[in-house]
Amino acid sequence: MPGKNKKMKAAILYGPQDVRQEEIDIPEIGPRDVLLKIKAALTCGTDAKVFLRGGHPTMIRPPAVFGHEFSGEISEVGSSVKDFQPGMRVVAANSAPCGRCFFCKIARQSLCDNLLYINGGYAEYVKIPETIVRQNLLEIPEGLSFAQAALVEPLACVVHGVEESNIKAGDTVVVNGAGPIGLFFVILGKLKEARVIATDVRPERLDRARKLGADAVINASSSADVVESVKELTEDGRGADVAIDATGLPEVWEKATRMVRKGGLVNLFGGCAPGTKIEIDTGLIHYSEITIKGVYHHTPTYVRRALGLISEGKIDTRLFITKEVPLEKIAEALKLIINHQGVKTAVIP
Ligand SMILES: [Zn+2]
Ligand SMILES: [Zn+2]
Repeated sequence: MPGKNKKMKAAILYGPQDVRQEEIDIPEIGPRDVLLKIKAALTCGTDAKVFLRGGHPTMIRPPAVFGHEFSGEISEVGSSVKDFQPGMRVVAANSAPCGRCFFCKIARQSLCDNLLYINGGYAEYVKIPETIVRQNLLEIPEGLSFAQAALVEPLACVVHGVEESNIKAGDTVVVNGAGPIGLFFVILGKLKEARVIATDVRPERLDRARKLGADAVINASSSADVVESVKELTEDGRGADVAIDATGLPEVWEKATRMVRKGGLVNLFGGCAPGTKIEIDTGLIHYSEITIKGVYHHTPTYVRRALGLISEGKIDTRLFITKEVPLEKIAEALKLIINHQGVKTAVIP
């Protein structure tokens, strides 16, 4: 157990593509917090963006520790913590809702006004604050590795996304983007017994989508018109029942709105760059009665469901964690994402 004034290794972000290995103080915990010794932290497209841009407008102002998909072993618990003990293997979501605001009271916790985020997975230790300890710190079931368990956070977002997409057995669902988020959508779409079409511009990503159960794939770079290609794969060319965006690109958002049949649902799941806009044919909304919605983040219920899916073996985790590196190699690991190599890397401090 680390005593007071002890140091730890951490990757500190100083600016665009400037990460330095430093020794910093191990965080001090309060009576209701938990100190986690990180055993695995996964790289994510969000972290790669933060690395490229040198921070995040609301969450990460440099110099700062970052990394938000992690799991580990409890090193220390505050004096008032009852449900956790040192030595327990746990995974934490990267946020928790406040439980008191208007949105929490109407059970829309992903919209919580006071959503508390933690970052700092690329380090030896991280403090799990009380709000997260109480709601989003879960014991890792036996048989799951730390890296596998760390997939809980991104998967929980997708479980939320799928629950909000009204997918019925036999539906045709098109998933645009076959990065980790799109691949989770492919798996969960198949679990809903839908017919899943995946689109992406990279053949190796489409191969993964196929391995995970996609019934058809479309290479959006070679296909002259991806919207038409999707429609051709549906009965009478009427369009998909559900279209999902997992790219966060406004041009793909626009295409997704044209891929669905009359009365279809469009889930614009991938977050686009701030300030971007899209154009929608008003006729699609009025005469074709399509539903367009966005889904953000997760709630404690979805975090639990995600861990359940992983421990039940429903997610082929080997296809998601394609490499393992020590903490010192964090910059290289993030560059793999930037250069579209592999899926996620497990960073082991
Ligand atoms: Zn992430
Ligand atoms: Zn709230």
